[in-house]
Amino acid sequence: MTTHDLRHPHGAGHDEVSLLDWLHTVADQHLPEALHDVAVPVAWVGRTSTDDAQDPTLSLPRQLDNARKALPPGFVIVAKFYDVESGRTMVEHRGTGHAHEQFDIPIPRDGSIADLLAEARRPDRRFVAVVCESIERIARVTYFSTKIEYELEQAGVALLAADEGIDVTAIPSLNDGSAPFRRATPTLTRRVKQAIAEWYVLNMLELSWGGLKAHTGQGYNIGKPPYGYAAERLRHPVKAKAHEGKTKHRLVPDPIRGPVVTQIFLWRAVHRLGYDEIATRLNLDPDRYPPPDPILGEGRRRVGAWTGSSIREILDNPKHTGYMVWNRRKRGHRARGVKGRVNPPTAWVWSARPTHESLVTREVFTAASTIGRFRQGSRAGSESNPHPRTRRTYLLRSYVRCDLCGHRANGETTKGHTYYRCSPNPKNHGHLPWFPGHPRAAMVAEEQLTEPLARFFTERIFGLGRRHYLAAVTADIQQTARSASAARQAELTAAIGELARRQENLIKELERLEPSGDPDVDDAWRRGIQARFAATVTELRQKRQLLAEVERTARATTPAEVGLLDQLPQGSIDLRRLPDDQQREIYDAFHLELRYNSVRRDLTIRVTLAADTAQIVAAAVASTPAGPQRTKEQRPGACAPNPNPVRDVCGAPNASLREPVLRVAGDPLPGCLARSRGTGGVR
Ligand SMILES: [Zn+2]
Repeated sequence: MTTHDLRHPHGAGHDEVSLLDWLHTVADQHLPEALHDVAVPVAWVGRTSTDDAQDPTLSLPRQLDNARKALPPGFVIVAKFYDVESGRTMVEHRGTGHAHEQFDIPIPRDGSIADLLAEARRPDRRFVAVVCESIERIARVTYFSTKIEYELEQAGVALLAADEGIDVTAIPSLNDGSAPFRRATPTLTRRVKQAIAEWYVLNMLELSWGGLKAHTGQGYNIGKPPYGYAAERLRHPVKAKAHEGKTKHRLVPDPIRGPVVTQIFLWRAVHRLGYDEIATRLNLDPDRYPPPDPILGEGRRRVGAWTGSSIREILDNPKHTGYMVWNRRKRGHRARGVKGRVNPPTAWVWSARPTHESLVTREVFTAASTIGRFRQGSRAGSESNPHPRTRRTYLLRSYVRCDLCGHRANGETTKGHTYYRCSPNPKNHGHLPWFPGHPRAAMVAEEQLTEPLARFFTERIFGLGRRHYLAAVTADIQQTARSASAARQAELTAAIGELARRQENLIKELERLEPSGDPDVDDAWRRGIQARFAATVTELRQKRQLLAEVERTARATTPAEVGLLDQLPQGSIDLRRLPDDQQREIYDAFHLELRYNSVRRDLTIRVTLAADTAQIVAAAVASTPAGPQRTKEQRPGACAPNPNPVRDVCGAPNASLREPVLRVAGDPLPGCLARSRGTGGVR
């Protein structure tokens, strides 16, 4: 859209003449000195994406040239701002990159877009408007580009785009007030262009996502081949790309390293060796078991030997099964506010059928890898392995957390005793604030957990006094929350009173204002008071909103649903009498968490009572045949002799399951919380 039908900048009611004619008239009358007065200074802003296959040394001069050509006569570009960065970069990260320094861009650079915005806000800025080639040069996310446009507008600077046509009335300092700065149709055009720019980039991402999925399905590898494989280079199936020398890669087993991978999986899955133990074995014979070469950078360095984590990396790589798998990780992008993460296995893209030779079967892979940790609870089933060297499944595996660092503690057996141990790696955690206070190995013996845990369930979950315990705990929590909320309300009320007083004083000051004789001084004085008054109004509004929020939250805090407990069986129940996997099912249903603090030597047991907990507990009990019970830990008098106490109580008619009583916004309700002093066990 081109809008050259401009109004006369001075005086309404004139016939519409173009600015060009007007400038010519002025220029003719006042040549040459007057030309200086009519020059309209503008700033140019450019951007070339790092994503585009564009050459900034060509793209930026083209953008500048297009902007220059679109400017009406008399307009002069007085400053040039540009960046080489993605149009999806968040506004607060814009203009912080140094990508432009890598190119020999033949345009003097006044700074980045951030510098442009900073100068626009200054009273001594060099320009009255900003011009770009097209609006997508500002950003490819509509929110970001409208935000930048708005910020410029607030500073009184117009944002012009060469491909939309330059409308002089859009520039506040050239507009005589006879028409609004921003006009309806050009704004609509711009918004449509922004939407298209955003659609374009999203569509491109969708297409490339689809492309990568197809690439995986066809069995092509992306990135470095995993240990055990070599990449077989193939001609690119697309002729044009093959012509450019591009290739695709398929995985073929490495004759030496392939068997090493198979060996690692067997040691892990069948012999149940630990990562470090496997690494030690491999390091004994580096010729037979050559250590991996990591992809360097991001904290990884070449160690020249096997380590526990390199073993784990191999065990967790599903490509060893012969299937191609993609999307295991999401790469972080700080500038776009995207965090890197490991995707859960449900998000992985597997090829439909094997695409390369496998080094391990899917069954062995599942048994050996740790990807099960993504599942709620724990590894499915706890069937013991027939091999004599099988390590036992730890009863409390995945429930025990170290209170000092929050990490999950690992089970280990030393001299017939089971411990849960947390020993963080200084390489990964050495910089964290908790690290100096963390023992090298924070350990707790299993008996020190099972004893209080059994007591907790007996008394607080299945015991006769459970309602009393829960009510006491929740009353305590609510009391704390109530007093915190009351203190905040009082604080806000006081602040609001103080602001109201300040406003009154400002009004009085304004009333008492005696003319000083200098109208400029009086005016400045009055404006100063007004500005301070306006600031108090804003602050007052914020404080009042905050207060309303705090009051609303205080009203909305619902007491914990003690009634949920009634759905659970009641009676003298000692869970330790159930087989391990049945116990674990029940612990899973309660979302059990054991936080052990090895410095204070205390244990926090936390369970969550959700609406479906009772059903899961009943099902767990019902599915178990009344067979031989765990007897070795049975304590005399702990429970009446009964083959399956939980089942019996669950089956009783007065404990029949009801529909969930209450769920707060789909969240599980806070359950019981208990703290009991442990008795050491730190080594
Ligand atoms: Zn820890």
